[in-house]
Amino acid sequence: MSQNAFTNAMAQLEKAVKILNLDENIFEQLKQPQRILTVSIPVKMDSGKIKTFTGYRVQYNNARGPFKGGIRYHWNVNEDEVKALAFWMTMKCATVGIPLGGGKGGVIVNPKELSSGELERLSRGYVRALYKYVGSDQDVPAPDVYTTPQIMGWMLDEFEKMTGGHAPGFITGKPLSVGGSEGRGFSTAQGGVYALEQAVQKKGLNPQGTTVAIQGFGNAGSHMARILNKKGYKIVAVSDSKGGVYNQDGIDPAKAEEIKKGGGMLGCYCLGSVCSLDKMPKDGKCRFVSNEELLELDVDVLVPAALENQITVDNAEKIKAKIIAELANGPTTPEADEILFKKGVLLVPDILTNAGGVTVSYFEQVQNSYNYYWTENDVLEQLKKIMEDSFEAVWQRKEKYNVDMRTAAFVLAVERVAQAMKDRGRV
Ligand code: GLU
Repeated sequence: MSQNAFTNAMAQLEKAVKILNLDENIFEQLKQPQRILTVSIPVKMDSGKIKTFTGYRVQYNNARGPFKGGIRYHWNVNEDEVKALAFWMTMKCATVGIPLGGGKGGVIVNPKELSSGELERLSRGYVRALYKYVGSDQDVPAPDVYTTPQIMGWMLDEFEKMTGGHAPGFITGKPLSVGGSEGRGFSTAQGGVYALEQAVQKKGLNPQGTTVAIQGFGNAGSHMARILNKKGYKIVAVSDSKGGVYNQDGIDPAKAEEIKKGGGMLGCYCLGSVCSLDKMPKDGKCRFVSNEELLELDVDVLVPAALENQITVDNAEKIKAKIIAELANGPTTPEADEILFKKGVLLVPDILTNAGGVTVSYFEQVQNSYNYYWTENDVLEQLKKIMEDSFEAVWQRKEKYNVDMRTAAFVLAVERVAQAMKDRGRV
């Protein structure tokens, strides 16, 4: 069993390669990124002391377009993780057919320990270290775990200082005031909802009252809870890094959001106020659940919306959900995939489910390049079409090859990347 995200990513690739009987020379090139950049970022802390952070940018494959992918700020960031995430971006953009390649960035940092000023200096430092290698036609960053529109705004400003002139298409997920797109803030979740709705239909479930557990209450997970709740799904569990809450009668996402904003633990939801660990209810209709317990709840739909390697060989057998919609990147290991497939769980993979984020990033770049901005309705209409068409394209391959949806999505993505590589004469 591997907890190395890149090893897992390569195992996923290999499955698709075998089915496609892919040209060896293409496979060889897909096993490594085209470029790995590692930089040191010295930051003057508020204390006056300099602290040096390590940053990465992995440029995986640009056969279909400029490298594209977010920047993650997390204490567990490492080169192999960024490589895996950059590879998944390559596959993701190809799955939904947008003309972009794949890349990813990361900084080893706990952003919760930094002041706003320190965070700004770190973000500007990241761009100063890498600006020569990125840009709208080279490599286009965006937000990821613990990075925000504000951080994108600082990065844009620094990039324009270094290069001169306006270059809004250098980065996506920006605030609206500097060229961001309507809908980008919740597009990962919205895309996930469009994909999930297709899966719910295929399984013959009635959305009204379908129960959902969501692991992760960050940007993706919290918007997913809000949108699904509005559509009549019953959110029965949500969690964040401090643990979660289960409520048999359903959770009001707005109330959960309030608790989180107040710095409280989601488990306090049952008491309706901020509380301490010892006061948290541990059994009954409304109770505290750990992140591990949440995954094994008896629900219709499970949405992992946090980090990698959550569903593994250790817990896959115990999963009760009928559908898993992967809003996080890489939440399920290849071994777990096999167990879930045998159990008949319909797993909608990350490279499809969470592709709404990068799809609206692409729309953002399109708007930047012709300096004309769409309404939220325009954005959502286009997003819905891409998500539904992509779901169908993946589904067809699932049927054709009798494989799980992840393998089917990889087959589709690898077909498309391979075609571009061939057409460029890279073989
Ligand atoms: N970080 C997001 C993802 O993993 C969005 C990437 C982007 O918009 O470029 O898909």
